[in-house]
Amino acid sequence: MALTGLQIQKLLPKTNCKECGSNTCLAFAMKLAARKADISMCPYASEEAIQTLGAAYEPPVKLIELGEDKSLKLGEETVLYRHEKTFVHQTALAVNIDDNEKPEVIEQTLDNIKNYMLERVGEELRIDMVAITQKSGNRETFVELAKKARERVKRPLVLRSADPGALAEAARAVKGSHSVLASAIPETAEKLREAAQENGHTLVVTAPGLNELVLLTAKLKQDGFNDLILEFRSHTLAEQFQTASIVRRAAIKDNYKPLAYSILRFIEPHDDLLEETVLAVNDICKYGGICVLPSFDPAQLAALMTLRLNIYTDPQKPIQVEPKIYPIGEPQPDSPVFVTTNFSLTYFIVSGEIENSGISAWLLVPECEGMSVLTAWAAGKFSGATIGKFAKEIDLKNQVASREIIIPGYVAQISGELEESMPGWSVMVGPQDASDLESFIRARLT
Ligand code: SF4
Repeated sequence: MALTGLQIQKLLPKTNCKECGSNTCLAFAMKLAARKADISMCPYASEEAIQTLGAAYEPPVKLIELGEDKSLKLGEETVLYRHEKTFVHQTALAVNIDDNEKPEVIEQTLDNIKNYMLERVGEELRIDMVAITQKSGNRETFVELAKKARERVKRPLVLRSADPGALAEAARAVKGSHSVLASAIPETAEKLREAAQENGHTLVVTAPGLNELVLLTAKLKQDGFNDLILEFRSHTLAEQFQTASIVRRAAIKDNYKPLAYSILRFIEPHDDLLEETVLAVNDICKYGGICVLPSFDPAQLAALMTLRLNIYTDPQKPIQVEPKIYPIGEPQPDSPVFVTTNFSLTYFIVSGEIENSGISAWLLVPECEGMSVLTAWAAGKFSGATIGKFAKEIDLKNQVASREIIIPGYVAQISGELEESMPGWSVMVGPQDASDLESFIRARLT
């Protein structure tokens, strides 16, 4: 039977030393109960605690930390479907470079990977990793490119070679980057385990079938190495979907430790970009830990990153913008003043429509806990009183010269209350839909 947080706390040292990263032993016990931490994080845990809370309370999918500062995290998932709670760490996207490509192509791709940035709802999305595949057959070429990629792009690497000697050399050359070595098969597992363990990297393991893979991960864990990622060399979309689902279900529903790891997938180059993209989409939707794209294509990346943002955004925590007054364009003190909520999507749609109309304006965004207009109004977070209070807090009347505020048409009913809470101001009711803002502005404000 699962222990509660309080029962687990009784097994801990109760010194509240904070070394596990939690403020108290009770807070750490709560995390253990939710399988969001692992007993090895408490350096003072007794043998009894380790025995009782060891494997049974490990997170269902092993946490992997990559990068110089270990800031790229994989695993720790606790649910099969996002709507059950949330997914924890999004699929890391990597772009591959073959070490036999022309030097100018390699230079250009490294720059592209480093500089690529997509902005969506106020978030800057970038490529997480660089993958280097050995095709040259030359160890030195492979190792030198690994070093160059680390230095230039400063992100963790996926090092891929069928030659375990080349992988071991590259692992040494990029020690400290907390990268990924791909991939160990039963025959090379021992040598690559040593290379990964000695140099602080994670090891990808693969085998012809799930049974062999289970034996391999269990053996590596028994030998004291657990920083593992799984790779399945499946060929069809259906096979990819099915295998990933079986593995994640076994880890989460059955707490089956030999498969309790993140999954890496190399997307092989296809003549048809759409086929590649569909494989990557499937990987992002179905439990991909690292998805290695065969080449740099900004259009493909834009689609995949947008999809990933949708899937991995915590549905319980709406993306919000900071409550404040935003200049849209280059507003003058007497430019019109609009108001909307701080739900990111609402903010970006409204500000985009104002911008498209060609005018400059001020956009007042009070704190609404990230809710959209009607939800915030229904929850009492976007009322005449709350907007008036916020305008006072930020001293709106001394920041702008206009004394007219334009509210969304959906909340026309707050206009009286708003005029009462903002003495000296008049309220204009704008359109219900942001898509009508442009015509509203043309008709009423210009
Ligand atoms: S490290 Fe151990 S003893 Fe210290 S606060 Fe965490 S659980 Fe308690």
